[in-house]
Amino acid sequence: MCEKYTCICLSPIGNLKILYCLNGLHSIQQVENINDESFQPNRSQMVTIESNDKNDSVIVDSCISWLQAYFHDPDKLSLIDQPKLCKFIIDENAFQHRVWLKLYENVKYGNTISYGGLAQLVGSPNAARAVGTAMKCNPFQLLVPCHRVIQGNGNTGRYSGGKRNTVKMWLLKHEKTNI
Ligand SMILES: [Zn+2]
Repeated sequence: MCEKYTCICLSPIGNLKILYCLNGLHSIQQVENINDESFQPNRSQMVTIESNDKNDSVIVDSCISWLQAYFHDPDKLSLIDQPKLCKFIIDENAFQHRVWLKLYENVKYGNTISYGGLAQLVGSPNAARAVGTAMKCNPFQLLVPCHRVIQGNGNTGRYSGGKRNTVKMWLLKHEKTNI
């Protein structure tokens, strides 16, 4: 239904792939080959476009500004509009989508929530396990901050199905040292 474009940008946690249409974002993810073995963070890397299918896009610009603030100027983050998600891929009746939206709207920079806490927030207190599954298939890395969802006992928990746990730890530490 949507015509989609791809943008690759550099960031402190490696290259990010942004998939978008003219209505908003379809997904944002670290490129596939980043995992716990290959992850090489570079704190000072600016967020810049490496390649983009389309030369000018309001959607990409807003996403890049947001990412740049997230990594390098978090004080400004609350002043910047959150990049728009394409409304055609969000189904508010789907449990997983409601979990993503709740997290996107409620758990801000520097904060964390447990899987059970997020289940409660969505109104399904017994659904901690389903929340975990929703986190695993979250298409909007960083933006829908699944890295802020941790285990009830304070352990960090898995990220990206357990492939990128070190990335999760890096992000949580990054947010902690910048508030
Ligand atoms: Zn779209």
